[in-house]
Amino acid sequence: MAAAASTYTEKTDEQKAITEMVRQFADEQIIPNAEHYDREDTFPAPIVEQMKELGLFGVTIPESYGGMGLDLTTYAMIVEELSRGWISISGVINTHFIGSHLLMKFGSEEQKQKYLPRMATGEIRAAFSLSEPELGSDVQAIKTAGRKTESGAWEINGQKMWVTNGLMSSLVFVLVKTDPDAQPRHRSFTCFIAEKEGGVSENTGPYEGLKIPPKIKKLGYKGVESTELVFDGYLCPAENVLGGEEAGLNKGFSQMMDALEVGRVNVAARGVGIAQRALELALRYSQERRTFGKPIAEHQAIQFKLADMATQVEAARLLTLRAARLKDAGERSDLEAGMAKLFASEAGRFCVEESFRIHGGYGYSKEYEIERLYRDAPLLLIGEGTSEIQRMVIGRKLLQRHAKS
Ligand SMILES: Cc1cc2nc3c(=O)[nH]c(=O)nc-3n(C[C@H](O)[C@H](O)[C@H](O)COP(=O)(O)OP(=O)(O)OC[C@H]3O[C@@H](n4cnc5c(N)ncnc54)[C@H](O)[C@@H]3O)c2cc1C
Repeated sequence: MAAAASTYTEKTDEQKAITEMVRQFADEQIIPNAEHYDREDTFPAPIVEQMKELGLFGVTIPESYGGMGLDLTTYAMIVEELSRGWISISGVINTHFIGSHLLMKFGSEEQKQKYLPRMATGEIRAAFSLSEPELGSDVQAIKTAGRKTESGAWEINGQKMWVTNGLMSSLVFVLVKTDPDAQPRHRSFTCFIAEKEGGVSENTGPYEGLKIPPKIKKLGYKGVESTELVFDGYLCPAENVLGGEEAGLNKGFSQMMDALEVGRVNVAARGVGIAQRALELALRYSQERRTFGKPIAEHQAIQFKLADMATQVEAARLLTLRAARLKDAGERSDLEAGMAKLFASEAGRFCVEESFRIHGGYGYSKEYEIERLYRDAPLLLIGEGTSEIQRMVIGRKLLQRHAKS
């Protein structure tokens, strides 16, 4: 169902075709099945299989490596549509997208050849891992340590937390401390491409020393697993330092920060998607539900809510697409990506709550889709940098761009 607010139409023919295809997929395959996977908290394998067939794991991967070679703007449009269906579905793709971005931008040619073609088809999927039990925002406090062994491989020890796709992924782009004495501190970290067996909790053979404990039980964002990773003597070959040992050692922090910048556009697009869906549900319900002799949509207080929601959706979408377009044009977009993430994730929460209120008591019932959205939306305020951290990023970048001369 289209929203009543004017839909952003500035799309190329290719973007129109692909977003229409993904919207149809969301309407036919995701929305009708989300309630089941959410209730059972099980991995939506049949939906993921169809996503593979649609090529959605390779959207931004160059055609030369088997992907679609599309830009960030088109990717953001696709993520909006998937998230409108269910943000857990976009969660299966989002960490994969970060992993493929890291490889495309910083990987050696051998690493690209080795992983990207299989990533493009979704045969192997990627996760990324910065957070630990004692840190999330303060990335430089990472304790998980890498030590070079006599064999040349790196031995990794430590515990990671909140890894989306932590179990089902076959590659984890993991940020590890490799030089505890480095100054400045951000030069202490290396990004390793940790291979593992997808879907296996206790890895053996070449991947021995990596355990994935049972998934974390969550408020929402069900279906896609969030896990800890326990590295205990896990050996990572030197060639799996992102970019190769010579180019990539102790460069992991800046590589990850670069990936998080595009990741912020990605989360912003998820905010737009969930806000859009909340608006659609509110528009429908408010025209069906009657109080005091008329549909509630005819009460001005409800119309004002709809107006505020539609305005937020539109503004969030524009900010998101602008940040993506700047990035695609090769221009600086750090400030804009932070703004888009902050605004769109807050818009997601706002619209979901307003839609929930419009649903009255039924919003509290599991029979209604808005109940799931109400549990899902807060994730976007946290993942890839909380709203407080976004404000810090925006403030810092603003001052950099307007430094007193
Ligand atoms: C479902 C889920 C999936 C996730 N997936 C991943 C993943 O795939 N990979 C990964 O690496 N991580 C992942 N995360 C972790 C996520 O990135 C962190 O939770 C997030 O960065 C916040 O870190 P924290 O939870 O440690 O909170 P903290 O950093 O402890 O922050 C707690 C509170 O303090 C505020 N705060 C912190 N520092 C400051 C400051 N300097 N000034 C003002 N306020 C501050 C924060 O905004 C927050 O409100 C996921 C989290 C969740 C919930």
